[in-house]
Amino acid sequence: MRIAVFSDVHSNLEALTAVLDEIRRETPDRILFLGDAVGYGPDPNGCIERIFEAADVVVAGNHDSGVVDKTDISTYNPLAKESLLWTRSVLTAENRERLLSMPLTAREDDLFLVHASPRAPSAWDYIVEEAGASEQLDFFDGPVCLYGHTHRPMTFESDGKKVTVTQERLLTFHKKFRYIVNVGSVGQPRDGDPDAAYVLYDRREKRLSFHRVQYNFRITQEKMRAVHMPSFLIHRLTYGR
Ligand code: ZN
Repeated sequence: MRIAVFSDVHSNLEALTAVLDEIRRETPDRILFLGDAVGYGPDPNGCIERIFEAADVVVAGNHDSGVVDKTDISTYNPLAKESLLWTRSVLTAENRERLLSMPLTAREDDLFLVHASPRAPSAWDYIVEEAGASEQLDFFDGPVCLYGHTHRPMTFESDGKKVTVTQERLLTFHKKFRYIVNVGSVGQPRDGDPDAAYVLYDRREKRLSFHRVQYNFRITQEKMRAVHMPSFLIHRLTYGR
């Protein structure tokens, strides 16, 4: 049983297409999506449609939730807010229904799925270091939690006493350990690598691998310019920051 997992597409159709093409070549048994189909990028409708076509399981991100008014966006940073208001203005009724249908969490056998944090899925907290990760362990069952939200791929592992963080690209899960894994971002990486991210998990082997896929972000940036997206959002795709 092989599972592909991706997150944080952010209306970037070029990155999504590149990742889904590569995932299809890997022929996984299941495909899971961890939220933020929309926000920041120029192709919300196309991305929602392709994600819902490809993924067996989806959970909602803060941008998905904000666009359909399930989350109050008044506290969002000004750039996120600006892109969400634009997204709202172009969203089709059908895709709005799709965003409304996304649950906050899901289970896929040994995997607990959430966009931001198991402790308070709708508070959209950021898990970025060991202390924050260790506070999450009581809030999901099973050995592994997969999440997104920070756009930085990394793995927290707990031996029951302490939590350590690793950026290893290939992990074999230990029977007695528990894991909180950030799968990175397809459409707006923030770890200094502009390539789109996703992970593959082999349930029988208990092996998880992180992957990156090059795509032509210049096309995405052109589309963003055409709809007058803030230039910071356009430029960050070049650097993955
Ligand atoms: Zn995001």
